Amino acid sequence: MKPTFDVVIIGAGVVGSALARHLTRFACSVAVVEKESDVGMAASARNSGVIHAGINYKPGTLRARFCMEGRRLLTQLCEELNVPYSICGKLVVAMCEEEVSELERLKAQGEANGVPDLRIISGVEAAKLQPGIEAIAALHVPTSGIVSPYALTLAMAEDSAVNGANFYLATEAVGIEHQHNCYAIHTKSDTVRGRWIINCAGIHSGRLAQSIDSEAPDLYPCVGEYLLLDKQVGEKLSMSIYPAPQADGAGLGVHITPTMDGNVLLGPSNEYVSDPETRCCTGSTANRLLEEAKTLWSDLPPQVVIGAYAGVRSKQTSPEVGGFGDFLFRRTPNHPQLIHLIGIESPGLTAAPAIARHIVDEIIRNEEPFKPKTAEEISLRRWPLRFDELPEKEKERLVREIPDHGDIVCRCEGVTKHEILQALNNPLGVRTLAGIKYRSRAMMGRCNGGYCLPRIVDILQQEYGWEPTAFQLRGPTSPMFVGRLLEEDHG
Ligand SMILES: Cc1cc2nc3c(=O)[nH]c(=O)nc-3n(C[C@H](O)[C@H](O)[C@H](O)COP(=O)(O)OP(=O)(O)OC[C@H]3O[C@@H](n4cnc5c(N)ncnc54)[C@H](O)[C@@H]3O)c2cc1C
Repeated sequence: MKPTFDVVIIGAGVVGSALARHLTRFACSVAVVEKESDVGMAASARNSGVIHAGINYKPGTLRARFCMEGRRLLTQLCEELNVPYSICGKLVVAMCEEEVSELERLKAQGEANGVPDLRIISGVEAAKLQPGIEAIAALHVPTSGIVSPYALTLAMAEDSAVNGANFYLATEAVGIEHQHNCYAIHTKSDTVRGRWIINCAGIHSGRLAQSIDSEAPDLYPCVGEYLLLDKQVGEKLSMSIYPAPQADGAGLGVHITPTMDGNVLLGPSNEYVSDPETRCCTGSTANRLLEEAKTLWSDLPPQVVIGAYAGVRSKQTSPEVGGFGDFLFRRTPNHPQLIHLIGIESPGLTAAPAIARHIVDEIIRNEEPFKPKTAEEISLRRWPLRFDELPEKEKERLVREIPDHGDIVCRCEGVTKHEILQALNNPLGVRTLAGIKYRSRAMMGRCNGGYCLPRIVDILQQEYGWEPTAFQLRGPTSPMFVGRLLEEDHG
């Protein structure tokens, strides 16, 4: 039987991973239960990757508070873990006079939240900052930035695993039960027990909370589709471009954002759906995203889309109500050691480190004086440097030292054989092709793996003797080469 952990986290998105990472800085036992075969595969990898400055949230809300605290902690964390980020700024553009009043409202709201250096600038000045903008005015937000969202989540989770967090991957929690001095999390195959439980199961957090707390709210999935553009567009875009907010919008509008990998994102769309697991992208939405983006940025070249993906927002507001709810940290008098994090939609990526600090330092450690670990007791795991981004001299030195760096496996992203093997030997024990992709960036370029996938397959067969059945895209339900297409018919 598994031990009873001090803290069990359900869901390893950016919030669960930030919690695990912060908890492993204290002398306590931590487990993370995640239904997918890897961490950070839901909303946390499928968003705009924007470090929000704090202009979009009503002063006094949890979203405003945790965005402001989160952006400061996030950049510190990125420095510490070597996660790529950039404070590149953003422009919110106005195309007509009414939208200029929206910019003024946003500026006042941002200032009330403590966002520094906000300026409303002319269309001419905006076009100087970002050529191709044809607006009448813009709000310049210099403290907004971008981060690699999947690298952030993976880096925090891997650092916490190295520092003692126990990850139960491919383990779906189906219910929570109070037992005499702990909580039992029932999974499809097992039970994991903890004295404190933090439910951060994203879009499923409301439903999971209802297994023990019938008054926990429902959540409404609202999908946001994106288009990923080639790096040739990335060279022309220096900062994010957002439209002025629409009054009834459940999102921030279709925006254009550079990524830390040098690509550009267009999106997201904004559509309530019934399937919380949807990942579908449609041609009609893609066309609409391209059209809307062109109104923001006339320099957008045609024929540059290299991929598409979708992320699901965890909305507390129904389609009829629209707009945004606030973050909900639900803790009832009957179950004070059970904390449900519900409705963590945007700016959840930015806010995650601050949410983790709050839950651990201001709630759990108030009642459990877990001793902080000393510097010697902590092993920092830094996100690996990318070979392709190193200076030539450093590359030459590394190839002499580690010959596998001399073998470029992914030509689009310049990923070496050593980086593929390094990605495979991750501390979470993830052995999927998606796991290699997100850790090394192989298969993320414009050929979408057309060139490097066969080479990666060869490497895994030769170095590790993998059989065709061992190759899975995301986990056991997505075999790459050999697997069942249909269930057996016993009828
Ligand atoms: C389209 C879109 C754009 C966004 N853009 C931004 C942005 O630019 N900046 C920003 O700050 N924020 C942004 N956000 C918000 C941000 O992405 C989310 O707030 C954040 O990722 C939420 O993290 P999470 O860990 O709570 O949820 P998730 O990332 O959804 O993680 C939940 C985890 O729980 C797991 N899980 C679910 N059910 C179970 C179960 N029963 N048992 C075990 N595990 C389970 C899931 O597999 C998943 O790994 C955006 C969100 C979307 C959808």
